[in-house]
Amino acid sequence: MSKWMKNLMVVIFALVFLATCGDVSASASTPITPYGSARFQSNTATIDVSKVPAKYRSIWLSAIQAWNRTGVFTFQLANGTDAQVTAKVTSAIGGSYTGMTYLTVDNQGYIAKAECDINNQTLKSFHYANFEWVNVAEHELGHAIGLNHNPGRASVMYAANRFYSIQKVDTVAVQRLYASSPDRISIGSRRKRIYDPVLDVRIKRSFDKSLALGPTASHDSEHLKGPTTLIEIAIQTNRILAMMADLSE
Ligand SMILES: [Zn+2]
Repeated sequence: MSKWMKNLMVVIFALVFLATCGDVSASASTPITPYGSARFQSNTATIDVSKVPAKYRSIWLSAIQAWNRTGVFTFQLANGTDAQVTAKVTSAIGGSYTGMTYLTVDNQGYIAKAECDINNQTLKSFHYANFEWVNVAEHELGHAIGLNHNPGRASVMYAANRFYSIQKVDTVAVQRLYASSPDRISIGSRRKRIYDPVLDVRIKRSFDKSLALGPTASHDSEHLKGPTTLIEIAIQTNRILAMMADLSE
């Protein structure tokens, strides 16, 4: 067999292989965002942004708009102490954290109050871009809604999220949480403080690599199919071609 024929066969085999395993892209899938038992009484909450310095207010307003656009939860602007959610900007939460949310849950299992902070000093020193500040604010609002951290990176609720806005895995979680009953077993009110670690941009390289290297998801959790990445298919194709080239030597 000529070398040319061998190469042609390798390519044909690789294409057939790729066509029959259309799940290549699913290896980048992220589970549906976990949520707790606590939630607001309805999928609407009032939010006060008046304590946010004017120069940072657009960050919080963009995050609010992003959630409102999804249609699964609505934040209504309200000033003063009556607001259910208070948005803030502070560096008091410590340099390794981008944000923090403090929840107060009543004895009915409903979230009574949420305070959401973003850390301007950390976001600045780690050179977060404007849209990345908004992603962090969206993340904190996700906690206020009742969402927990997603172990998958393609979710606004990944603990060290920097790159992602609200995803389908996040909106599906909100829909399910607000269709469920709140936790009525709990006695007395609960308080919960959630801190979010900073993500240095240099980590993005290993992050991209791990996305391409296959399933990180556990079998016992539910998944939505992630977006197909061309890079990932290219890597898989290269692997198959290399494997076939070895075999045809
Ligand atoms: Zn968080």
